[in-house]
Amino acid sequence: MSASLSKGINAFKEVIDAPIASYFSSCVHCGLCADACLFYNETGEAKYTPIHKLEPLRRVWKQEYTLLGKLGKLLGLSKPVTDAELTEWEPLVYDSCTMCGRCSMVCPVGNDITYMIRKMREGMSASGHAPEDMIAATTRAVNIGSPMGVKWPAVLAQIKHVQAETGIEVPVEKAGADYLVLMSSMEIINFPEYLSALCRIFKQTGVSWTLAQDAFEATNSGIQIGASDLAREIVSRIVVAAERLKVKCVISPECGHAFTALRWEGPNLVGKPYSFDVKHILEVLDELHKAGKLKTKGKDSRPLTYHDPCQIARRGGVVEQPRRLLGEVAADFREMPDAGVMNWCCGGGGGVSANTRAEPLRLQAFKVKKRQLEATGANTLVTACANCRIVLEEGLEHYHMNIPVVGLTEIIAEHLVEGE
Ligand code: SF4
Ligand code: SF4
Repeated sequence: MSASLSKGINAFKEVIDAPIASYFSSCVHCGLCADACLFYNETGEAKYTPIHKLEPLRRVWKQEYTLLGKLGKLLGLSKPVTDAELTEWEPLVYDSCTMCGRCSMVCPVGNDITYMIRKMREGMSASGHAPEDMIAATTRAVNIGSPMGVKWPAVLAQIKHVQAETGIEVPVEKAGADYLVLMSSMEIINFPEYLSALCRIFKQTGVSWTLAQDAFEATNSGIQIGASDLAREIVSRIVVAAERLKVKCVISPECGHAFTALRWEGPNLVGKPYSFDVKHILEVLDELHKAGKLKTKGKDSRPLTYHDPCQIARRGGVVEQPRRLLGEVAADFREMPDAGVMNWCCGGGGGVSANTRAEPLRLQAFKVKKRQLEATGANTLVTACANCRIVLEEGLEHYHMNIPVVGLTEIIAEHLVEGE
């Protein structure tokens, strides 16, 4: 057995905790998870059945932790997991799973298959079976602070641009501010309008906020690749900055998995409760609106629909807030079929969009999103995750659909009552 395989199998053994063992032992092989998965649904290929993607992990569990499995291994009836199998499974675990959580919603015995995939990725990355693009992104996140290699001077350039455009000062390193604002690399590089929208909204609502020079990036590629130590380091940077600046709340940006990493996984990763709250920007905007501080005027007359990012809606519970906010600014809002917690993934979550090898499969899986969109007749698509936004734009372009994609925060900023 090679050193990396042995490391991977040991990592598999280590990640098999009580939930994983109970999930494998309670699986009734009903196959219901298959129909919930966009990759199975759009290809019809059995290998994309969610529980099948975990087969090497299941074998390790059976051989190491069950009496029958141990006996089978001793008698040579059950073969150990090999390096070749892990190579074969790598595209199943990384390219054909966005960790969207849809399969976990339908499992009749309550298996959290997404959690199992995350755990399996830990073993895969430890054995050297992670996609090259994701390894590179994670290395940049650790060495530079951002998976896309964004450094503070790039943020500073955006800050100057936004200040010139809005005439509003962007606060940096402001100790005692209520909110620490994070951004995703994609927002910094592709969507500077997000920071501009925040400036205008926070000015109107009188919110005290700040950016931190050493913790502006919310993206956590450690979570995506399945490397808990790296995920911990990335979360720790934010925790250190939030504690240093003594903020009350950290705002997770329009990025799906950043919210999962920071809000739900973060305290476990750093091994202590936070001294601050973590909220998604849509939760903050909804609270400001409810408090009567966020005031909008006029409505967008275009037929609009909303794509629920998986980590924000299904895994994060932020479902009503975007609808309340859209209700304020959209005259013709149309729900997609399966909207809300059962929405279909854009196809690019969980690091899939950063994995070039996965692109043809991702575009094939996008057909379900295409059908959802066509059913609404909407000509504009709103979302709240910069990664979804890029993936949606690519999918729409691929299928020659002329539908612009916009961030919800920006739409709100476009309708602010002036002079307040
Ligand atoms: S988490 Fe989503 S993409 Fe992954 S197996 Fe389940 S349904 Fe498929
Ligand atoms: S839906 Fe649940 S019980 Fe059925 S095959 Fe999938 S994991 Fe097993």
